[in-house]
Amino acid sequence: NGELDAEIITRALGRWLGDGEGIDRRVSELAEIEKLFVQGKSAPPRIPSYCSGCPHNRSTYLLEGQIAGGGIGCHGMAASLGEANRGIEYIAQMGGEGAAWIGASPFSGRDHIFQNLGDGTYFHSGRMAVNAAVSANVNITYKILYNGTVAMTGGQDIAGSLPIPALTRELEADGVKRIALLTDDLTRYENRTGLAEITEVRPREDLDLVLRELERTPGVTVMIYDQMCAAEKRRRRNRGLMAQPVRRLMVNERVCEGCGDCVAKSNCVSLHPVETEFGPKTRIHQSSCNADYTCALGDCPSFVSVMVEEGTGLRKRPLPDLPAATVAEPVQKVTAGRSYRILMPGIGGTGVVTINAVLATAALLDGKCTTTLDQTGLAQKGGAVVSHLVIGDEPIEESNRISYGAADLLLGFDAMGAAAAANLCRTSPERTVAVVNSHELPTHESIRKGLTVLSADGYFARAVREHTRDGKSIFLDASRLAESLFGGHLQTNVFLLGAAYQAGLLPLRASSVEESIRLNGVQVDRNVAAFRRGRQYVADPVKVESLAAPERPAKAPQTLDGRIRLFTDELVSFQNAAYARRYEQLVAEARRAEQAVAPGSTVLTEAVARYCHKLMAYKDEYEVARLLTLPDLHEQAKAMFEAPVKQVYHLHPPLLRAMGLKRKLSLGPWTRPFLKTLAAMKFLRGSVLDLFGYAHLRRQERALIGWYEEMIRGFLPTLTAANLETAVEIARLPDRIRGYEQIKLASIEETRQAAIAMLARHSRSAAA
Ligand code: SF4
Ligand code: SF4
Repeated sequence: NGELDAEIITRALGRWLGDGEGIDRRVSELAEIEKLFVQGKSAPPRIPSYCSGCPHNRSTYLLEGQIAGGGIGCHGMAASLGEANRGIEYIAQMGGEGAAWIGASPFSGRDHIFQNLGDGTYFHSGRMAVNAAVSANVNITYKILYNGTVAMTGGQDIAGSLPIPALTRELEADGVKRIALLTDDLTRYENRTGLAEITEVRPREDLDLVLRELERTPGVTVMIYDQMCAAEKRRRRNRGLMAQPVRRLMVNERVCEGCGDCVAKSNCVSLHPVETEFGPKTRIHQSSCNADYTCALGDCPSFVSVMVEEGTGLRKRPLPDLPAATVAEPVQKVTAGRSYRILMPGIGGTGVVTINAVLATAALLDGKCTTTLDQTGLAQKGGAVVSHLVIGDEPIEESNRISYGAADLLLGFDAMGAAAAANLCRTSPERTVAVVNSHELPTHESIRKGLTVLSADGYFARAVREHTRDGKSIFLDASRLAESLFGGHLQTNVFLLGAAYQAGLLPLRASSVEESIRLNGVQVDRNVAAFRRGRQYVADPVKVESLAAPERPAKAPQTLDGRIRLFTDELVSFQNAAYARRYEQLVAEARRAEQAVAPGSTVLTEAVARYCHKLMAYKDEYEVARLLTLPDLHEQAKAMFEAPVKQVYHLHPPLLRAMGLKRKLSLGPWTRPFLKTLAAMKFLRGSVLDLFGYAHLRRQERALIGWYEEMIRGFLPTLTAANLETAVEIARLPDRIRGYEQIKLASIEETRQAAIAMLARHSRSAAA
């Protein structure tokens, strides 16, 4: 990795110094550890990517067949997003963005490329590259993200920047042929003051159209994507320099199909996949959501805006005060001695570096010596970060980077990071105690794949236990506890720190840690409270769990019969009792057949119960109207926000779309009576008077029910214990059918094809 660390130096010098003071022993120890970790299994790396609500998530988006060049800055992270239609072909040096295309274009089969460029880079030197491309008259579109800050290095002001109108005039004067200015707020440019003639102002919903139009325009064109940096927005909001948003988005999980289109559109890491009794859904992680509303840009009707009172936000629990003296000091506490080493793997942007600084300051307040090392930079964008802290009673004479096998405490703010080989190689089963946040925070990749767990086989905890002191490790879901107690994720790491303190694993005084939190000056009361509650958790977990328990416990049915009852009742609400009986009949047939060949087994019945319901309860206009007007979301919003005022639906009705409506309609609470009336008209469903029912997708959805029944009834007579597994796979096929409109149509086609192959396999196994 290009580093010259203590291990490399030890190995190199060890060859010459020979066996003095245990050098040989250390060299072979290092070789052993290296062997173990270089060749062994490791948790996958947490790859940095864009923040929630970051405008790059959208501005770097490309259509099928389009390619882009990258450069220096946040947009360079698009290099790791190839699968998400945001990849880049190369990275240019600062000021050389797109210049390579000048040389390559005469020899390329392509007519056109896009080039990403940040506003910071543009005003530094990127404008020279635009100039050069104009002089060479190549076909290229610069996508300039105007986020108003040098985001990559922490939000500095851009030296010499121009406002957008002046920028458009400069580009026009330079010879750019066409400029599309995409904005999240059209009102800013209502009267076009100062904009160059060649500028078209477009809503950001038009991105796909604009990409095609600019691709087809000869010469140098520019797309300016005007949206503020999400990290800067969050910073300002946290410091009270910018108002908290009064519009928050929620996903109505009953309407959500778990198709992932919102993830594809927004690439947002706040869209968490969740498992519910109605299948996989998407939920917005409210405390990390930056409210840029990009996820709602698709056609999906699940998104609901919850308007909240100005100055209010997420609901916080009224927590009783916890005076410092209430939690007794730990019975035993480590001492610093010559050196006490703390390794802190975590996630960029969650305050790992701050915790390191808080601990180092606390150590200084206690009259101790410290050295620290923080990994910063690109990893701060949701990637893996790791901080090293060494505390000593005397000046420390060793590397500030904790050596292999030398950590005393593994304070794992991220379970995945704690289980990474690069960190576990610094722990030792004889020496290290681990305190780890067991919560599996999704990665960008897991979100894109819709995975709800990162280590299905419990690998993270197992790996940590294997490489730290037997029976001493502490795993606790600090994320869940902190979010539940403090209404946000920012107190998670401090909560875990409190737990480590109370376990006697910090050679510091609690009062110094608290004083250090005060000196840091950010959210002091909440962080002190989180530290104390973390301590209390170790002293009295039952008490803290009871404070954090959900106010409304989940009421999902726990048994197969309970689920069948729930789905049957839902189908009565969807249509009527006769319709529900049709469902019950198929499930009963599947159950009888399964019991005959595999007594006690319920896997096939479970699958038929779940997926027959899924197909029968298809989300047409009547059903979406019914689900949108259920009280569930209203109750969730009340539990989530301090002062929700009203809900706004965002709908793009297929009928109106077919008649030319290009964008979603935002419909306020006055729509509810209409939606309720529409829901009550379900008796028209499938009849000649059902205007919606004539649409191609609706006809397909109705046909799918018969297709599924036929398929299940087709294989039940040949069901055996040996082919039960294949039968279950077939019964679960509808899980692949998800989404709305074109997305659903495409998934139906794929599923039908997959069914043909599986049924053939089933027939072969039945014949054998
Ligand atoms: S509004 Fe949607 S896209 Fe924007 S930050 Fe929140 S979850 Fe992400
Ligand atoms: S249906 Fe698809 S697009 Fe809509 S919220 Fe669910 S996952 Fe997102």
